[in-house]
Amino acid sequence: MQFNSVLESLDIYEAGKPIELVVREYGINPKDVVKLASNENPFGCSPKVQAKIAEILPKMALYPDDSMYELKEALAAKYSVNTRQVIIGAGSDQIIEFAVHAKLGRGQKVLMNGVTFAMYEIYAKHVGATILKTTSREHDLGQFLALYKEHKPEMIFICTPNNPTGDALDKTQLYDFLDQIDANTLVVVDGAYMEYTAYADPKKAVMVDDITSRYANVLYLGTFSKAYGLGGMRVGYGIGARNIIEALYKIRPPFNITTLSLQAAIEALKDEAFVLMSLKNNFEEIERYYDFAKEVGFEAIPSYTNFVTLLLPSTQSSKKVAQTLLEKGMIVRDLTGYGLNAIRVTIGTLEQNSQFFERFMQYCR
Ligand SMILES: *Cc1c(COP(=O)(O)O)cnc(C)c1O
Repeated sequence: MQFNSVLESLDIYEAGKPIELVVREYGINPKDVVKLASNENPFGCSPKVQAKIAEILPKMALYPDDSMYELKEALAAKYSVNTRQVIIGAGSDQIIEFAVHAKLGRGQKVLMNGVTFAMYEIYAKHVGATILKTTSREHDLGQFLALYKEHKPEMIFICTPNNPTGDALDKTQLYDFLDQIDANTLVVVDGAYMEYTAYADPKKAVMVDDITSRYANVLYLGTFSKAYGLGGMRVGYGIGARNIIEALYKIRPPFNITTLSLQAAIEALKDEAFVLMSLKNNFEEIERYYDFAKEVGFEAIPSYTNFVTLLLPSTQSSKKVAQTLLEKGMIVRDLTGYGLNAIRVTIGTLEQNSQFFERFMQYCR
């Protein structure tokens, strides 16, 4: 059978390996498996979310409130924007999909960093768009601007802090760049880890109300999957000018998140203390990774997120290291597919991080 020809340029996306797979394939006791591969919150989610989920379980026969009013209201209040500037998705992944489909057609152009979140390119390929990338590992706005001027792309993705490298742009640099972009170019600013960045360095914190009121062509993305610990619930959001949000709404399927997800996100927003505890642990523990990197001779990219990217020397293959660790029940992300001889490790609890250091020393040295 023949399919849409754009599929010829696409592979099936391989998400982070689940704990179940390691148990099944390597016969490891589930309690000995440590997953530091998908940037999940090692403390799970707020206990308040769990209590709420238990309370609403009996209501599962009902469709969710498709207006998502309560969640949109809570986000609008948190970020000082209007509810009509907010759209909710099944993860911010889904908002990326809406945005690409709303803006790009076949042969139109999209610009992104050389090394960045894979879904931008995948969704752009769905619509047959032309993909332009910088040659940089970390965001290089000089290169972005040069490519922008040369090719006039219809859409730009900025991921700050960037996944999978962990670096973040200074807000002033970002604004200087945005000042030079045409009003008809949609710029997606993906802030999936912005809670971490805001905690680590206010200079790099992009405030949603600030950026969206300054720039009518910016769509800001946030998610409940990282700092709020709700990766399994699949809730993310987009915030921007009303005409952008209305365009995305035309593509959104009804009931695109579940009743459980909706309530979980609403409750999660009420427990900032949980988030703060998670952030504090993260930046205490990340120091141990920097020390570890020094000790074993790896380069750690300074991170503004809940993961650290360790660049390996050419004498050691990241693919092999990740595989060896996997067989010992330690799941980390190999970045060979991104053109880097590096592994990305999610910052876990104190015990999980100690396990990483121990297993690395035992099996990979
Ligand atoms: C995790 C992540 C997302 C989206 O995650 P969802 O679970 O779909 O909300 C988006 N962008 C980046 C850069 C991410 O790392």
